[in-house]
Amino acid sequence: MSLLGTETFQNLIGGAWADSEGGETFESSSPANGEAIGVFPRSSAADVDKAVEAARAAYEEWRLVPAPRRGELLFRFAQLLADEKDELAQLMSREMGKVLAEAGGDVQEAIDMSFYMAGEGRRLFGQTTPSELRDKLNMSVRMPIGVVGVITPWNFPIAIPSWKIAPALVCGNTVVFKPATETPLLGQRFVELLVAAGIPPGVVNIVHGGGREVGEALVRHPDVPVITLTGSRETGVAVLRSAAENLKHVHLELGGKNAIIVLEDADLDLAVEGITWSAFGTSGQRCTAASRVIVHEAVYDELQRRLVAAAESLRLGAGWEPETDVGPLINRAALDKVHSYTEIGRAEGAQLLTGGEIATENGLDKGFFYRPTIFAGVEAGMRIAQEEIFGPTTALIPVGSFDEAVRVANGVRYGLSSSIFTRDVNRAFRAMRDLDTGITYVNAGTTGAEVHLPFGGTKDTGNGHREAGQAALDVFTEWKSVYVDYSGKLQRAQIDTVENPSP
Ligand code: NAD
Repeated sequence: MSLLGTETFQNLIGGAWADSEGGETFESSSPANGEAIGVFPRSSAADVDKAVEAARAAYEEWRLVPAPRRGELLFRFAQLLADEKDELAQLMSREMGKVLAEAGGDVQEAIDMSFYMAGEGRRLFGQTTPSELRDKLNMSVRMPIGVVGVITPWNFPIAIPSWKIAPALVCGNTVVFKPATETPLLGQRFVELLVAAGIPPGVVNIVHGGGREVGEALVRHPDVPVITLTGSRETGVAVLRSAAENLKHVHLELGGKNAIIVLEDADLDLAVEGITWSAFGTSGQRCTAASRVIVHEAVYDELQRRLVAAAESLRLGAGWEPETDVGPLINRAALDKVHSYTEIGRAEGAQLLTGGEIATENGLDKGFFYRPTIFAGVEAGMRIAQEEIFGPTTALIPVGSFDEAVRVANGVRYGLSSSIFTRDVNRAFRAMRDLDTGITYVNAGTTGAEVHLPFGGTKDTGNGHREAGQAALDVFTEWKSVYVDYSGKLQRAQIDTVENPSP
């Protein structure tokens, strides 16, 4: 693939490509080998102001475009994504680091989401209800809200923007999009394809730059009534605070500390496959990564043995090389953070079974590679079993019963995804009921969401909203209740009745 190297990219504001006001820039480079990807505007609040103004102006027309027509544009966008899938996957393996198969899955998720939300253009269902009075009709309709500020992380650089931008647009909102500074070119390509699909000027704007500068300016802007953020818990709290002044709608998708439970009757081969995929896929940099494995003591030794063998068979390398199983971490800070948790785990008395070190052989020292890491003998309260590490590290926690497994699984601040491996249908259903997470898998790992079901978590994983599926529409619309009285006279609700009508 030809590399883009030092090509300079611009913000898109009101349909025109533009440098940042201050003219400053930052570079994107590959976490696999440091190669240059491109140069992007380091924008500021002044650029956000302009983008919001453009989005506000475009909103007045876009909200009146019939929703089926808005959906048709998304349909075209989905097709363009499908046409560009291989190219985008290649770019993702370079800019973000994931292996090609997973990068293709990331793009596929965006294709699926865009087709799904395109269809919403012909639904956006509200309700019609009877009235308590004669000659009166009641209904509820979804209304667009205005300018949506979209702030995304780097780990699903095409999928996550689609989860937010596709529903925002079909509902009739306009968008100012701030992608993560680690993956600006993928954000740029996403927006270029929206433009190619025919999205009118100003309806989608992109402003590149840091969270503190661009993100926070967006969150504080009084003309941006909706903020949707996927990121860490810490960022979520900061955003919620900054948005409070203007009583914004804030939709937060935050961290996870997801657990896989393996009971004594589980298919252990299947469990090992599920754990390996969920703990080490995307180098553990998924919000749904399985960073805890809660194992019944009857199968603990056997599972541990098979899991270590599976982890040690994984090949580290650049994501675009076909034989690679595990790509790099996103940057030096992530590498340092993941390694610091290895030190923490050791100091806490957990037993390091495999991994626990930075990989440097065969040119891996040019990137940020960490060996798949498994700790055994982990106690539920240890920091490695409580805090989000966001790397290829998982903790094996032995338990003596199903009830204890559920208690341990629920004993963390996050509540995104959970999973249970068992052949016992009764315990599987109890787990579906009792695991306090937004998503539960039975006999599968903790990752693998489909776009037509709600996605999100309980407790500190979010603030009660969901994306994907129809639930996402609640983030991007206000309900309006409409009462139409065709009696030709004043009918007073709760006072005039059919038995006792108004005069
Ligand atoms: P991050 O919180 O560092 O950054 C996320 C985005 O927020 C970036 O665009 C960043 O520039 C911006 N930002 C940072 N500070 C800000 C501020 N004060 N105001 C406004 N914007 C700000 O997260 P990350 O490192 O990019 O992503 C990893 C995190 O995302 C992990 O915690 C992971 O669990 C979470 N995540 C959650 C989900 C989910 O759906 N629940 C999905 C993917 C990732």
